[in-house]
Amino acid sequence: MRRASAGVRFDVSGIESDSVYPPAVNRLIRALSQLPGIGARSAERLAFHMLKSESETVLGLAAAIADIKKSIRHCSMCYNLTEADPCPICSSPRRNHELILVVEQPKDLIALEQTGMHKGLYHVLMGRLSPLDGIGPDDLTLAALLARVDDPGQNGGVQVREVILGLNPTLEGDGTALFVAEELRARKVQVSRLARGLPTGWQLEYANKAVLADAIEGRQNMD
Ligand SMILES: [Zn+2]
Repeated sequence: MRRASAGVRFDVSGIESDSVYPPAVNRLIRALSQLPGIGARSAERLAFHMLKSESETVLGLAAAIADIKKSIRHCSMCYNLTEADPCPICSSPRRNHELILVVEQPKDLIALEQTGMHKGLYHVLMGRLSPLDGIGPDDLTLAALLARVDDPGQNGGVQVREVILGLNPTLEGDGTALFVAEELRARKVQVSRLARGLPTGWQLEYANKAVLADAIEGRQNMD
């Protein structure tokens, strides 16, 4: 039987090292290097940091990671990330259920929520239309939004009066906003969009609170 040569490199792309790690370390490095912004070198450094750390610290991290997959889900009404379903925003009696602010991603919702300016509910589309990437209306939660507008039963028993489009001011965000507005045009609902305080190409999540608050307050009708 042939033995693997000592010079065999594990499949840790980008790591230029002849050192042979135990398989478990290798698996960790590979998993870490798949995280956004973590290259092979950083993944290696993190893995060795964990090896040196107290068991308690590392097991706490592992448990926190496992928890988000076990306990966090999408709200069945607005698709926000939540532990309880419906989420605390959708189930709050203090929020105005007649008003829905549509965003692309949960992180946009968080940015807008931090302004404290929006008293209504949200709807997270979970993306934006991108024909070049093959992302069409069926890949978003658009049907669920339309169902909320059409049927008060899908919106906590309250008829929707206004939908505010809070998509990013990018080419794809604008295209998505126009598409959603068109879908809503035939329905008895007011459609508005965030004021143009944000420079084109910017992402909502990076805008500061004051700019976002102005954008909500100065929203414009799309009729
Ligand atoms: Zn919700």
